[in-house]
Amino acid sequence: KKVADRYLKREVLGEGTYGVVYKAIDTQTGQTVAIKKIRLGKQKEGVNFTALREIKLLKELNDPNIIELSDAFPHKGNLHLVFEFMETDLEAVIRDRNIVLSPGDTKSYLQMTLKGLAICHKKWVLHRDMKPNNLLIGSNGQLKLADFGLARLFGSPDRRFTHQVFARWYRAPELLFGTKQYGPGVDVWAAACIFAELLLRRPFLQGSSDIDQLGKIFAAFGTPSSSQWPDMVYLPDYVEYQYVPAPPLRSLFPMASDDALDLLSKMFTYDPKARISVQQALEHRYFCSAPLPTEPDKLPRPA
Ligand code: ADP
Repeated sequence: KKVADRYLKREVLGEGTYGVVYKAIDTQTGQTVAIKKIRLGKQKEGVNFTALREIKLLKELNDPNIIELSDAFPHKGNLHLVFEFMETDLEAVIRDRNIVLSPGDTKSYLQMTLKGLAICHKKWVLHRDMKPNNLLIGSNGQLKLADFGLARLFGSPDRRFTHQVFARWYRAPELLFGTKQYGPGVDVWAAACIFAELLLRRPFLQGSSDIDQLGKIFAAFGTPSSSQWPDMVYLPDYVEYQYVPAPPLRSLFPMASDDALDLLSKMFTYDPKARISVQQALEHRYFCSAPLPTEPDKLPRPA
């Protein structure tokens, strides 16, 4: 079945938040693509705006580490977004027990994640939904940020965003304390969780509720003191937690190199104002010390 006289529909790839994603062949180029179908019309107006925002953002973000939007068109009351087809995602890589990730492989996946984020942040865009299954991997091994459905310009006048946007395990502490004025630091925290997940091969901080999520964070890094994070006590949902001391970070990541641990601890800084930026993280010595990041086409991927 053809869509808009150009795309030959194949199987459904998955169900997203706003609609079905299916595989298709672009008859003009012969290439395989992924088409995200978003219902338009009488529905909730919000879906329209979200979709339009996604289109505009993606067109502005032209980068090897960001998913390419090749076409967008309405068809039979649905908005169709055409993306380059991606073979797998980072969640599948991390979960695959047949895959061994060397320190260079982990470094490469983190570097590509941060490079994609750096472009977002340079254009004043927050990703806001960083998690391993939103990091798609192409046939050449390149990792690309996807799913900008929740992204939003953070330079816009209305900075009072909703804070329930992240998958809980990747949520920064300021979001869990209900901050309404968050910045690029929320993506850095999420990237740190993904870094930790690459090292551990399982999600690092698996909270079962927002309160439990904070508990897991404090158990890992110790309860934040007000000298560590002066603005914490002014956050809307701040409550005082029982004091927990920080165990040595080394004890949580026994296999990580000193450079890896140093970068990880800077990304996991409590105070978002003191947290390392994506650009600074990319300049960290971890990325230029041995072993160097693995070339993307040499990275292990699911069979
Ligand atoms: P969600 O909104 O739940 O985060 P998406 O709408 O982005 O998910 O995508 C739903 C599913 O479709 C994904 O889990 C993935 O399996 C598949 N998918 C999305 N984009 C692509 C793509 N570019 N190439 C291949 N598969 C994709």
